[in-house]
Amino acid sequence: MANASTALHGPQSARALDFDTIVIGAGISGLYQLYRLRELGQRVRVFEAGTGVGGTWYWNRYPGCRFDSESYSYGYSFSQELLDEWDWTEHFAPQPETERYLNHVADKFDLRRDIQFRSRVKSAVFDEAGPAWAVTLEDGTSHRSRYLVTAVGPLSAPTLPRIPGVGDFEGEAYHTGLWPKHAVAFEGKRVAVIGTGATGVQAIQEIAKTAGHLTVFQRRPNWCTPLHNRRITSAEMDEIRKDYPALFQRCRETAACFIHTTDPRGTFEVSDDERRAFWDMLYAAPGFAIWMGNFRDVLTDRRANRLFSDFVADRIRERVKDPAVAEMLIPKDHGFGTRRVPQETHYYEVYNQPNVELVSILETPIERITRTGLRTTEREFAFDIIVYATGFDAITGSLDRIDIRGAGGVRLKDRWKAGPATFLGVMIDGFPNLFMVMGPHTALGNIPRSIEYNVEWIRDLLGHLDRRGLAFADARPEAVDEWTAFVKQKGEGLLANEVDSWMTGVNMNVEGKNVRIIARYSGTAPEYREWCDRVAAGGYQELVLK
Ligand SMILES: Cc1cc2nc3c(=O)[nH]c(=O)nc-3n(C[C@H](O)[C@H](O)[C@H](O)COP(=O)(O)OP(=O)(O)OC[C@H]3O[C@@H](n4cnc5c(N)ncnc54)[C@H](O)[C@@H]3O)c2cc1C
Repeated sequence: MANASTALHGPQSARALDFDTIVIGAGISGLYQLYRLRELGQRVRVFEAGTGVGGTWYWNRYPGCRFDSESYSYGYSFSQELLDEWDWTEHFAPQPETERYLNHVADKFDLRRDIQFRSRVKSAVFDEAGPAWAVTLEDGTSHRSRYLVTAVGPLSAPTLPRIPGVGDFEGEAYHTGLWPKHAVAFEGKRVAVIGTGATGVQAIQEIAKTAGHLTVFQRRPNWCTPLHNRRITSAEMDEIRKDYPALFQRCRETAACFIHTTDPRGTFEVSDDERRAFWDMLYAAPGFAIWMGNFRDVLTDRRANRLFSDFVADRIRERVKDPAVAEMLIPKDHGFGTRRVPQETHYYEVYNQPNVELVSILETPIERITRTGLRTTEREFAFDIIVYATGFDAITGSLDRIDIRGAGGVRLKDRWKAGPATFLGVMIDGFPNLFMVMGPHTALGNIPRSIEYNVEWIRDLLGHLDRRGLAFADARPEAVDEWTAFVKQKGEGLLANEVDSWMTGVNMNVEGKNVRIIARYSGTAPEYREWCDRVAAGGYQELVLK
């Protein structure tokens, strides 16, 4: 293979390049992209805002943070040595373990020498004469590279609620996605948690164990189902290790890259008894079996979805002693699985504790955060600690926070005003040599499986350019239109697309994000990969290469 550095620093380069590729972000995506680009002989620099590797698993240190994916299905699959030497200790590992794992990966593959920490990228401007990307950090330093890979994460731009007075509170206040590295003590304290999404649920069930008094402020309840986490014994880990090839093969075949897969039967094709037994089994099964392994029509057929939602509502009623509180915890505005399903461990039982109170901020909105706590339309509350579990400006948020300008100075944020449009979630026409890992409209699911695929596809494309002495790749507009139309078509008939959520691009805490869009590709991952493979096998005809 030609040395990429030679090809990249030929006469075409108007000004010297500092790097062949700049990667933004050192989470699972950025680490793996660095590893794969080194194989091309490239000089790569990763800029990471944090002080360590891990992305999601670096920032989200809140109590109770852990996987929803089975640990062993989430880790990297590319290195046999890594698979052989790493033991997961729980089926759904807690954040500290995953952060340790990603640090181990960074050390094992000597990745740190190409990562610059404490370096938030402020802008990235395409210079057609190079061609090159001029990347400027918040500290004002600027770096030029031929290629730019954004690995900034689909859930990495934390949002605070748009409530007056957020800065006024004089006690301790934390956003779950910006959790401090020091321990936070809740013992005996008056604590507020605002938000009951996947993160809020994890945090609430943990904080309730020690808080003097915990008040949960819920805008909308979610359909939460039991995680059923357990420790992994060393004998079990040996079995898992032996099974890795079959496990990853399974993840390659399932719609969302999880080990769980849809049951081919329809809800009404089985007897009432059979259906009830199946649902009881799913409720007792670990992880997302209940979401990803349910009857094939639960997420598309209104009647099936209603029936299953009723089943889960009854489980909540069984678990929460106060019927009024139980009703507050049962979603009335959306069916099961149409928003992200939080997985829980004794979450509902928390509301049976005398030190926990649930407040609906749909009924009594928070008027403002005060110096001593907060005020709803009904009451004044005093707190020692406020925890904002208010999530992220998802999917496009971390890209929106960088001033990205493509050919002709076009701003990406303007380009995507009406919603994202991409080619395979990886490229955007008019933004040549820019590649996104986990960009909008790519396959998500059990995310590392999709990350590995995205990263390798980008590596292969850059290798292809390199071998031909080329240094420019842009998506053709018609290819973007075709992919975007396919994404829209795949969203048709899905009940999830009829509901406000981060998956439909709605976030009331972010200005301008109050209209539903197709923010997500909802086809299957195998279909996605088939499309991408076809593009590569056909010599990238959907791209302008020069
Ligand atoms: C609490 C939580 C639990 C999750 N659990 C699961 C799960 O069980 N299974 C699953 O599949 N997925 C889960 N996810 C999704 C998770 O984000 C992905 O699995 C995965 O970690 C994404 O990796 P990434 O490298 O693409 O992005 P991230 O891990 O988000 O990393 C992005 C990195 O980019 C950096 N960055 C962003 N902008 C800039 C900038 N301008 N300049 C410099 N650096 C920047 C950030 O600091 C961050 O370190 C979870 C997410 C959260 C928040």
